[in-house]
Amino acid sequence: MEKRDYYEILGVQKNATSDELKKAYRKMALKYHPDKNPGDKEAEEKFKEAAEAYDVLSDPDKRAKYDQWGHSMGPSGFGGGGGGGFRASGMSMEDIFSQFGDIFGGGSFGGFGGFGSAAGGSPRRRRQPKGSDLRIKVKLTLKEIAEGVTKKLKIPRYVKCEHCNGTGAKDGTAFQTCHRCHGSGVIEHVQQTFLGPMQSTATCPDCNGEGKTITQKCQYCGGEGIVRQEEVVEFSIPAGVTDGMTLSLKGKGNAARHGGVNGDLLVVVEEIPDAELIRDGNDVIYNLMLDIPTAALGGSVEIPTISGKARVKIPAGTQPGKVLRLRGKGLPSTEGYGNGDELVNIMVYIPENLNDKEKEAIESLRDQPNVKADDSIKKRIFSRLRHIFE
Ligand SMILES: [Zn+2]
Ligand SMILES: [Zn+2]
Repeated sequence: MEKRDYYEILGVQKNATSDELKKAYRKMALKYHPDKNPGDKEAEEKFKEAAEAYDVLSDPDKRAKYDQWGHSMGPSGFGGGGGGGFRASGMSMEDIFSQFGDIFGGGSFGGFGGFGSAAGGSPRRRRQPKGSDLRIKVKLTLKEIAEGVTKKLKIPRYVKCEHCNGTGAKDGTAFQTCHRCHGSGVIEHVQQTFLGPMQSTATCPDCNGEGKTITQKCQYCGGEGIVRQEEVVEFSIPAGVTDGMTLSLKGKGNAARHGGVNGDLLVVVEEIPDAELIRDGNDVIYNLMLDIPTAALGGSVEIPTISGKARVKIPAGTQPGKVLRLRGKGLPSTEGYGNGDELVNIMVYIPENLNDKEKEAIESLRDQPNVKADDSIKKRIFSRLRHIFE
């Protein structure tokens, strides 16, 4: 049969808006609904034709392809189905009714309620079950955070049972077709509406929509289709993450019962506090305690950094409260704009217990002209340290 133009089928212009399409389709669907035209093959064909046209034109992507290629379809084809073209096999009634959710849903069509769905408005099409998410904590050192790290962890998770291929049935074959729904996974109700009897459907409670029931359970998984197993999961953590950040690994969570998609693995970052370095955003702070001679005379001291030990030069006359900034020695940002710094916060140790000789040495300094802190020196030093308090 020669395929009719989709726009023509719905009786709309090529530039019809989605609202116009919806309206036109609603009109057609009502007119040719099989329940209103029992036994009328032509009406049923028209009904399907309109549904197919709407399915394509209501999807901007498919519509664009259709506008370009028409029914002949382009090189790739879409919608599956053998010889290319839109839905070569036509839409099933199931597909068609599932469209009705957005056409007639939301109470816009008063009194109808159950067109594509059972009373509660649950979607008709069986949703693919999803396994549950797993959440693990991973402890990271500052060094690991700074450089990014690949972790291999043993994680107990539910995986597909290989003996029954995730079906839960012995050898993956011990099934029978569900008696209640005869394999369709749905049960149909006929409702009386002002348009006459209308069909609505619900998930079959006996088989949970699977269309089949297990006659003999798989002995390895007890019919669940999943088994708990320790698995080594490898993942990499990007540099610069912060404590509490959660990374999501798609499909690495628990497998779903009786097939379906896996849940996700959520990796929560926990930062192990460093013994010496204090993290402040992307910067790290190190409190450096100098002795009096080094602060006064200068020298070179070893300090820890994220990447190991480093030596810094201390200029003569370094005041407590001074902050040395080691550029780029902090942590990278996860957004990729540069590294933070290491801030070396200088403190000077004032000796607490002195022997007589030491006391004498310090005492001898008391009246030296360059040791006294007079007002002009205080002013100079404090102004230099001012930035710390701003
Ligand atoms: Zn099994
Ligand atoms: Zn069933």
